[in-house]
Amino acid sequence: MLKENPVLGIIGGGQLGSMLATSAKKLKVNTVILTNDLNAPAKNFCDEIIITDYNKLKKIDDFVSKVDFVTFEFENIPFNVLEHIVKRKPVYPKPSINQIVQNRFTEKKFVNKQGIKTTSYKLIKNKSDLLNNENLLPGYLKTCTLGYDGKGQYVLNDRDDVDNLSIDFKREYVLEKKINLKKEISIIITRFLNADCLIYEPIENIHVNQILNKSVIPAIIDKNIFDQAQQQAKLLAEKLDYIGTMCVEYFIDENNNLLLNEIAPRVHNSGHLTINTHNISQFENHVRAVCDLEKIELKKNYNAEMINILGEEIKTYRNKSYPKNQFFFDYLKTEIKEKRKMGHITTVKS
Ligand code: ADP
Ligand code: MG
Repeated sequence: MLKENPVLGIIGGGQLGSMLATSAKKLKVNTVILTNDLNAPAKNFCDEIIITDYNKLKKIDDFVSKVDFVTFEFENIPFNVLEHIVKRKPVYPKPSINQIVQNRFTEKKFVNKQGIKTTSYKLIKNKSDLLNNENLLPGYLKTCTLGYDGKGQYVLNDRDDVDNLSIDFKREYVLEKKINLKKEISIIITRFLNADCLIYEPIENIHVNQILNKSVIPAIIDKNIFDQAQQQAKLLAEKLDYIGTMCVEYFIDENNNLLLNEIAPRVHNSGHLTINTHNISQFENHVRAVCDLEKIELKKNYNAEMINILGEEIKTYRNKSYPKNQFFFDYLKTEIKEKRKMGHITTVKS
């Protein structure tokens, strides 16, 4: 029998954790955040926060004892920590999914195995691997693990770059051929414990220096791309037996081919606008799915555009007033760093 007010444990205390906690509150789900960040902004939004290194199992057990379900806001939690937790409480999405998508190489192999196209790529362990795959230049060299917001990536235009950019070969990489991008889109999908899915319409994304700058709905794309992207995301959610909200990022190349870029096994920056466009946001749907609450059909109320606010830019936004159709979100991060996501602003349009 489901408890009336479940307690949700969220690993990670950044803006995604904060927005999950805010949605949970609306559903009368209490939240306990587990984080290793002393200044985690989610402390402003959750019911309780436990700050600890992830290797302190006593603290982790303390966290586990307080919650009914566990989820996470980032996919790079050490696997042994998730394994430890899942023996005691349900973890959604399940940790084995992280093992696949934590690593760009295993992720791409998994995606291709389902018959879904990606860019051409090769696993790169050393310089000679790079030089043997010159056919993939110009390309993007990406660390297999722990990369985000363009971190851990090298843009290689030609063979000279291989020598000039001092690449750290202590890590493994994938080299991907550079795509002449027509557009980038993402699909946000939530899958529930009974295997039902809710899929948002495609979101069009504009990146600047490999960091998301702007997300827009509706995405201006052909109907067949719209359908194909949604079908692929659904297939992947099913194959992974995914529970919760996940995001699938796609490239559309100059010949209108849909290529899967990456899967994020969590709520995603490109889905922030769903807070203002839909009856149920990606965050609320995630909480509903992982706490086994009711699934409510999606309804779009508005189109919208979301802009990320990076670094020092946040200062001007904090001092502005906004018209009724603009929604400013301040992540309340104590330290401003260059290129750090500090907030976002969504403008809705009818
Ligand atoms: P991250 O994990 O940092 O989001 P991505 O692989 O999604 O890394 O890359 C970030 C952005 O860099 C992409 O959204 C895209 O704009 C650009 N990019 C990455 N790979 C390629 C590629 N092979 N061809 C063209 N652009 C790319
Ligand atoms: Mg990305």
